[in-house]
Amino acid sequence: MNIRSAPRALAAATALLALGGVAACSPDGADADPQRVDVVAAFYPLQFLAERIGGDAVAVSNLAKPGAEPHDLELNPRQVGQVSEAELVVYLKGFQPNVDEAVDQNAADRAFDVATVQPLLTAAAGGHEHEGEAGHAEEPGGGLDPHLWLDPTRLATVGDQLAERLGRADPERATDYTARARALRGELEKLDAEFAAGLKTCQRREIVVSHTAFGYLTERYQLEQVGITGLTPDTEPSPQRLAEVAAEAREHRATTIFFETLVSPKVAETIAAEVGAKTAVLDPIEGLSTDSGGDYLSVMRTNLQTLRTALSCS
Ligand SMILES: [Zn+2]
Ligand SMILES: [Zn+2]
Repeated sequence: MNIRSAPRALAAATALLALGGVAACSPDGADADPQRVDVVAAFYPLQFLAERIGGDAVAVSNLAKPGAEPHDLELNPRQVGQVSEAELVVYLKGFQPNVDEAVDQNAADRAFDVATVQPLLTAAAGGHEHEGEAGHAEEPGGGLDPHLWLDPTRLATVGDQLAERLGRADPERATDYTARARALRGELEKLDAEFAAGLKTCQRREIVVSHTAFGYLTERYQLEQVGITGLTPDTEPSPQRLAEVAAEAREHRATTIFFETLVSPKVAETIAAEVGAKTAVLDPIEGLSTDSGGDYLSVMRTNLQTLRTALSCS
């Protein structure tokens, strides 16, 4: 059977079983295959990298379920077992505390922390500074921002390092991994060029988003993000914060308040109604939505079109 197609089909079956309240069977029958490097990815963009760079030589499983928000992922005993048996765990320290703990306890010697590839950005607080004004009163920033995959060039660099790690685990196929990482880099650099060109000339450059996941994207393409919540999506914004975000949206004449596929749109809808804006999905690609037929590259291109419309780019 084609093992590369198996995780998606099995993940769908797992989701169906979970709906029925039946304990799901292991989604990775592939790990019985000694020919393949057994890779566990902590969430979707890392799965995407591992599958593209590993190709047929790896069997990749994703700890985060499709359609579930991965920041607060909890691992069941079967998943902890997957982590401890994996030949390589690809994760991002600081993004999913429960994964960090499972790796520390079970796979510290077989883990690739993609946060070590390049220094992370320090997160701005939910808003941004206006020249000649004191900073906005809002939740404190200052933590490290984990959402590095939203800069395609950073993801390419992570991919190069992942190829090296896979080559160390599987030296016979090291050149294949390097070649696939180089090909993927080409695709990611093309995407980066499309973003740079598509966002070069816009009437507005501020985006109002539901959580501040877009720091790497806004840094790369000279946009500004105003986050309703901070670095994680699960915090309830205070009434004061909602009022501040509405004021920001009005000040910057935002036409669109963005929400995410994996998080409730309610707060974005409230602010949009208050300021007379629309809502639209800007996907932080922390996971694919269950009905998505897309991948990292296609969702990023959809994001680009969404941004061009909302910001009136020419
Ligand atoms: Zn996030
Ligand atoms: Zn502002």
